[in-house]
Amino acid sequence: MSDCIFCRIVAGDIPAKVAYEDDDILAFEDISPKAPVHILLIPKRHFATLNDPEGSDAPLLGKMMLKAAELAGERRVAEAGYRVLVNTNPQGGQEVFHLHMHLLGGRQMVGMG
Ligand code: 5GP
Ligand code: ZN
Repeated sequence: MSDCIFCRIVAGDIPAKVAYEDDDILAFEDISPKAPVHILLIPKRHFATLNDPEGSDAPLLGKMMLKAAELAGERRVAEAGYRVLVNTNPQGGQEVFHLHMHLLGGRQMVGMG
């Protein structure tokens, strides 16, 4: 989708600090980090929200989750702890409508607000 900012990052039209990339997923540094470690993991294929993948996309979602844990290890926050979250739709706090997973670490996480 040409009007989607994360699709444009996948296409290389908008630069990003890439942490990991393969045929299916891309992980890159959040432009406005909310923690010392703040990486976004996205499927290269456009899904607007977590409501959109289907059963056949389970391996893709599982791969993203496992990669988040792996990146947490690489960034040395796995043992101390970290948070993985998927904001979904406006009431869930989603601002960019291309499915993404936040990996946050390196500080104490508080609350769930
Ligand atoms: P959401 O609120 O949709 O869950 O999170 C969107 C995230 O995308 C925010 O943390 C925001 O800082 C990040 N973001 C928005 N635009 C860009 C961009 O152009 N590049 C990068 N790297 N991150 C972005
Ligand atoms: Zn997109």
